Amino acid sequence: MRLGAIEAGGTKFICGIGNENGEILERVTIPTSTPNETFQKVVDFFQEKQMDALGIGSFGPVDLNRESSTYGWITSTPKKYWNNVDIVGEMKSYFNVPIGFDTDVNAAALGELEWGSAKGLDSCIYMTVGTGIGVGAITEGRVVHGLLHPEMGHILVQRHAEDPFKGSCPFHGDCLEGMAAGPAIEERWGEKGVSLAGKSQVWELEAFYLAQALVNYILVLSPKRLILGGGVMKQEQIFPILKENVIRLLNGYIQHENILEKIDEYIVPPGLGDHAGLCGGLALAKKVRSCF
Ligand code: ADP
Ligand code: ZN
Repeated sequence: MRLGAIEAGGTKFICGIGNENGEILERVTIPTSTPNETFQKVVDFFQEKQMDALGIGSFGPVDLNRESSTYGWITSTPKKYWNNVDIVGEMKSYFNVPIGFDTDVNAAALGELEWGSAKGLDSCIYMTVGTGIGVGAITEGRVVHGLLHPEMGHILVQRHAEDPFKGSCPFHGDCLEGMAAGPAIEERWGEKGVSLAGKSQVWELEAFYLAQALVNYILVLSPKRLILGGGVMKQEQIFPILKENVIRLLNGYIQHENILEKIDEYIVPPGLGDHAGLCGGLALAKKVRSCF
């Protein structure tokens, strides 16, 4: 089976061709400019590629409700030019194949469940900490959608007593994304995360916020695995502090060995590494293909 995949991001679109084993055979990166220009390059890549299905994991918010007249659209995004853009419709007009569509992070969660760190399980959380914080969730084998789709990167967190930073989320100020995404780190400390690698207080504060989020996800959804990716998580020193904070905050309330004894296998990086997003697109394509 030849499957097409698109990881549609605010800064770049990654397009690829792969197969039902999650193997990527070919890929290309296209900068996100205007929809017309970007779509033209996407179409150029897929034209004459002979695919059996296409999966699109997109930045959002997106409309995932198949009954809705705006199904398959990127809807109320603050990103310039991309408000109310019919991404699925556009691809449908060029490619006569089944198209799977979901948020970028739900797609990544699905890819990780199929081939990555959550392989063999029926639930997981996938969180990316990058330009924003996005979280996808699968529970009992189903991707969580709901009213719209969860936006778990924008949950409220308790501020650290010694953190005066006002927060960078344009909607909520000091929500999780506003306190802990890449731009918040840069604004708070005056340098990009990558050049702050040696400053332990940066990563202690980062772990302080991320741990609150994970604890909330554990309490609400009881996922069998938590997978953390994105540029900021390249700072691997966050992981051990994060795990300590999760254990401290739960304070023995969730009596499960995965938390109490095996947390290193419970909170993990993506098994698919930097391909988690694109493999997510493949997983969506595989899923939609198997429905036809
Ligand atoms: P995006 O979220 O746009 O898909 P990334 O996941 O690469 O892309 O996230 C970009 C953000 O992550 C930026 O704010 C950047 O400063 C930060 N970042 C990227 N690489 C690193 C790194 N190695 N260490 C710390 N922060 C990083
Ligand atoms: Zn927010």
